[in-house]
Amino acid sequence: MKAAVVTDFGKPLEILELPVPAPDPGQVLVRIEASGLCHTDIHAAHGDWPVRPQPPFTPGHEGVGPVERVGAGVPESMVGKRVAIPWLGSSCGHCRYCVSGWETLCLSQVNTGYSVDGCFAEYAVADARAVVGVPDGVTSLDAAPLTCAGVTTYKAIKVARVVPAERVAVFGIGGLGHLAVQYARIVGAFVTAVDIEPDKLGIAHQLGADQIVNARTHDPVAEIQALGGADVAVVLATNAQVFEQAYRSLRRGGRLVCVAMPADDAVIPVPIFETVVGGISVIGSIVGTRQDLAEVFALHAAGRTRIIAETRRLDDVNECIDEVLGGRAEGRLVFEF
Ligand code: ZN
Ligand code: ZN
Repeated sequence: MKAAVVTDFGKPLEILELPVPAPDPGQVLVRIEASGLCHTDIHAAHGDWPVRPQPPFTPGHEGVGPVERVGAGVPESMVGKRVAIPWLGSSCGHCRYCVSGWETLCLSQVNTGYSVDGCFAEYAVADARAVVGVPDGVTSLDAAPLTCAGVTTYKAIKVARVVPAERVAVFGIGGLGHLAVQYARIVGAFVTAVDIEPDKLGIAHQLGADQIVNARTHDPVAEIQALGGADVAVVLATNAQVFEQAYRSLRRGGRLVCVAMPADDAVIPVPIFETVVGGISVIGSIVGTRQDLAEVFALHAAGRTRIIAETRRLDDVNECIDEVLGGRAEGRLVFEF
């Protein structure tokens, strides 16, 4: 099978011919139909974060396709079912996080396309308990971006406990941001979209954002504070400075939701006085659970969300990475097989 492999940090990915993996006990073999490119894959390929993967490895954690074979202990009835392989490749299943619906915090978790090979390949194996069924009403091309970009922004809106008529500021309108705008609208919030690319802001406007701020030409803090400030600011841009802007755009009682992860273990200065007297919360939100993903699929199947994505060939993976790093990709880039 064809796979895009990281052979060394910072080097272009190599397209290699690898044997189709056999599913171990408890695993399924999935024939990948669509696989999205997430910023995390680029961080993985560059070895940007404090915990690094081990080359050679195959990135990709938005893989979707039918189950072709099952390993021992997995019901045969799964064969033929279309599933999504998310970032959470597996978790222990019995720690306090796993048993309380927070498997995404499990300390023994395995991450797809990071600690185990992922979905930039024609086939991938995955833990049968970690994959999520894709409903018939959701195409594989749409399901791929929903599997990380969708569930991650959906969870960010959930953990911020957004209620109707609150203002949600979304910093960074790309593969994730265009979905964050929609989930914030679904819960009834007024939405401010912040980006530096007019095309991306145009997409946010089309998707129903109430306020658009071009941070290249306008100060988002002043623009958002002019409307009373944001109740929730969701940061999806991998630039540490944007976190500071997002913090300063909050009103009292506001919640800063950190989702993007800048390289090099960046820190944000949190002024203690303002945080205390303003009752500000700073929240970290990491992807979402299998249940969250099932909800994301259900919303999409019901026509409540729209995916902005462009298809690409796996052979062009390195050009696609440049496109994302250059901020030129308007929505998600999805490899089609
Ligand atoms: Zn991702
Ligand atoms: Zn666990």
